[in-house]
Amino acid sequence: MDLEPFVFRRRAPMEASQATEPDADAAKAVNGFALRPLTPDEYAVFSLDLCHDQVDRHHSRFPTEELERISALTPGRPLMERHDLRGSLPRGTFFRSRVTAHSGRSVVRPDVYVLRTPENAGFILSIEGGVYRETSIGFAFRTPECSVCGKDLRTCDHVPGRSYSGEVCHYIMRDVLEVIEGSVVASGSQGTHFVSAASGVDDGSGRALPLDQALTVARNAYHRPIALETRRTWARE
Ligand SMILES: [Zn+2]
Repeated sequence: MDLEPFVFRRRAPMEASQATEPDADAAKAVNGFALRPLTPDEYAVFSLDLCHDQVDRHHSRFPTEELERISALTPGRPLMERHDLRGSLPRGTFFRSRVTAHSGRSVVRPDVYVLRTPENAGFILSIEGGVYRETSIGFAFRTPECSVCGKDLRTCDHVPGRSYSGEVCHYIMRDVLEVIEGSVVASGSQGTHFVSAASGVDDGSGRALPLDQALTVARNAYHRPIALETRRTWARE
């Protein structure tokens, strides 16, 4: 059985402290997305630690070989600001990304630029001031592989974070297809009110649910009984 790509949303810390002064390479990369050349004082640049290759607090892990692909898919994706049920406003654009070694692990670290418009002033200040510290990123993968049994996580009954014979189950995210978008959220916010859990789909500002909800929806879809329609034909005399 071929399953649809697994789409879900996860949090990533924002390295706002690494807000870098725009350099020549950044200016060139940013202007690859702008329709007219921007001067460095027209935008702010922030770095994000998007993901790494160790088991994280979401009980997920990227294989090291997937990181380069994620990094390559990130430039050009939008950075959104999530307000409320009205949805999200685009605030920035990821303009470059790299895989780098950090604390003994490999990390995907993209940079995003945010225009210094009057409308974005509060948004930039909220990042610089440490109020916005996390982003929530939507990914699509072909296969979330269970670390306990090696099957697609949607088709087995193992629960990420639960222990099986002394091994804590996690899932390995293989065959990344898409980085959907990044959304900035206030630190400590669960962000659940942005998602319509009842419908099992997103609120229209995106299409990725947090992992636990996405997994529940995917497993229910997988285990849904198949309805068979029986058609009877009268034999003609
Ligand atoms: Zn399993």
